[in-house]
Amino acid sequence: MYSEICENLPVDYTVGLVTTCNMCCEMCFRRWDPNKYSKDFIDDDVFQKLVNAMRTQKPEIIRWHCDGELLNEPAASKFLNTVVEMSADENCFSTNGQNIDHYIEKLVGTKLTLLIISVDAATEETYKKIRHANFSKLLNNIRKLNTYKEENNLSTPRLKFMFVLMEENKHELGLFVEIAKFLNVSEIEVMPLNTAVCSSSKLREVQLEEAKRVCKFAKANANESGIIFNFGYDA
Ligand code: SF4
Repeated sequence: MYSEICENLPVDYTVGLVTTCNMCCEMCFRRWDPNKYSKDFIDDDVFQKLVNAMRTQKPEIIRWHCDGELLNEPAASKFLNTVVEMSADENCFSTNGQNIDHYIEKLVGTKLTLLIISVDAATEETYKKIRHANFSKLLNNIRKLNTYKEENNLSTPRLKFMFVLMEENKHELGLFVEIAKFLNVSEIEVMPLNTAVCSSSKLREVQLEEAKRVCKFAKANANESGIIFNFGYDA
């Protein structure tokens, strides 16, 4: 019955390749439910079937992310070459950015159109509190990526910054937009904290009206500089 209605494969893919990560952020299930997944990677045959299907069409979007970090070994060696050669109107994945410097030549000037970087802070102190990692290293990695793009006159991948809004970082959203401008980011997305995942943490969600108030100015500032600003609370 279904095959009579739907003759073509989907053109919008979201593929979780990997469940391992090099970080352990405060709001991540990895910290509070480390046994959530029994496998580290997608099955080889499932991956191959998906790739074959994608090659027979030009999908509108491929998102290679779910709950893990692709720019981390052995995941990167296993999947990255294939990921960056897939054709789609938007071919993207998200990363915490801590290892970008190891993969710059593999990422830039390929068919990867968008690199989504989870940031969530604008200072070392807040980044450490939320993501338990090195903010300066993240910024340096993005600078290196941008420099490589400029030196080689290459425009892809575009950059998108993610900001999970919470009481602990809402005061930094303005500075976050300034940093995004400085780093040639083309898109920002602000998302609510998923407290169902991290109910054991001390992180606190921002109520909707307050989130709208905080985002109003940040959005105007971003838009003035040509940065798309999405407010994920609407979703
Ligand atoms: S970088 Fe992402 S997947 Fe890794 S621990 Fe942080 S939130 Fe979880």
